[in-house]
Amino acid sequence: MTQILKATTQFNLVDHVPVGLCLLRQDFVVLCWNRCLENWTKISRQEIIDRNLLDFFPHLKQPKYQSRFHQVFSGGFPAIFSPQLHPSLIPCFLPNEQRRIQQTTVNAIPNDDGNGYYALMSIQDITDLTDRIQIYQEELKKRQSIQRELERSNAELENFAYLASHDLQEPLRMVTTFTQMLGQRYKDKLDADANQIIDFAVDGAMRMQSLIHDLLVYSRVGRQGQSFELTDCEEVLDTALSNLQLLIEETNTNICQDSLPTVMADKSQLVQLFQNILNNAIKYRSEEQPNIKIGVRSEDGYWLFSIKDNGIGISQQYFERIFLIFQRLHTRQEYPGTGIGLAICQKITQRHQGKIWLESELGKGSTFYFTIPQFMSAMSE
Ligand code: ADP
Repeated sequence: MTQILKATTQFNLVDHVPVGLCLLRQDFVVLCWNRCLENWTKISRQEIIDRNLLDFFPHLKQPKYQSRFHQVFSGGFPAIFSPQLHPSLIPCFLPNEQRRIQQTTVNAIPNDDGNGYYALMSIQDITDLTDRIQIYQEELKKRQSIQRELERSNAELENFAYLASHDLQEPLRMVTTFTQMLGQRYKDKLDADANQIIDFAVDGAMRMQSLIHDLLVYSRVGRQGQSFELTDCEEVLDTALSNLQLLIEETNTNICQDSLPTVMADKSQLVQLFQNILNNAIKYRSEEQPNIKIGVRSEDGYWLFSIKDNGIGISQQYFERIFLIFQRLHTRQEYPGTGIGLAICQKITQRHQGKIWLESELGKGSTFYFTIPQFMSAMSE
């Protein structure tokens, strides 16, 4: 204890702390005024020691301050003056003459004769912190407003895609049906050219029908998703595999899998996610017997799923493009499809707060990865 006292006086510790310190007697006479306060207030200790603090700062005579000082002088709880309500209880200035923002605490300290208390004011400068918080809050506000705008325009686009695809279905069905009827009824009554034109028209209408159908499915991922529930991925995979059973048998596909976890998810969307990736793994097979490995591991609070195939592979330049809606790398003659499958997969993983990506090498096969949080904060979207 004496060591501490010695160090305090010998090294004059109160002058080396980045905190303003002022010791007051019950009659508000200043007993100590450290160097920090001298610098901040421009009032030297020669001027203020043994003088009444209230002569320098008359606003402290207000009853709201007096009552809290008296609470301390009678040995009560410390008085804390928050920076929000009292940013400069003792006005202190920055070199540019702006007021510092402070948090002031006043503590009771037993006095020399042991039958009363002094009040020790400790003044902490939090101007920098406040500035940083303000910058951060402004940045946060900007981001939140961009986020809101993005969400609004996404919802608008989704709504547009839904309405357009939904409302276009009916007239398109009519066009397809009537061009098909035209073909059937007049097949032998027209020349070869006319027959070919009718075939093109039917083919075009049917293609448009399947594009519109896919667009509708895509826009429904966000609009009509089910709420999230505990979902056993083993069951999900079983359902996806049984939906693909015929294709698996026809192509003699070999599938092996890790045991899969239970997650919070929209079950039918998870089935669709597995099914789309597995379907592609078989569709884009090479000359070899298709071999698919489904794996999972825990990583940074997420389940990281992987579906590895030994198919034709994809060149790296297309890794992002294939997740865009209606983007394909092959003609319909080479491989059937509309280019919506992976776009749907991406939307499903996003809705589940996860990500999807791939690693692949042309001619050597691909691995698709996707993540699902292990602990989903929101039970539903
Ligand atoms: P689609 O299969 O109808 O074309 P997708 O969105 O499912 O639509 O896939 C987009 C493109 O990504 C495909 O056209 C194909 O070129 C490529 N692709 C997807 N999965 C694989 C895979 N496992 N191996 C090789 N290419 C793939």
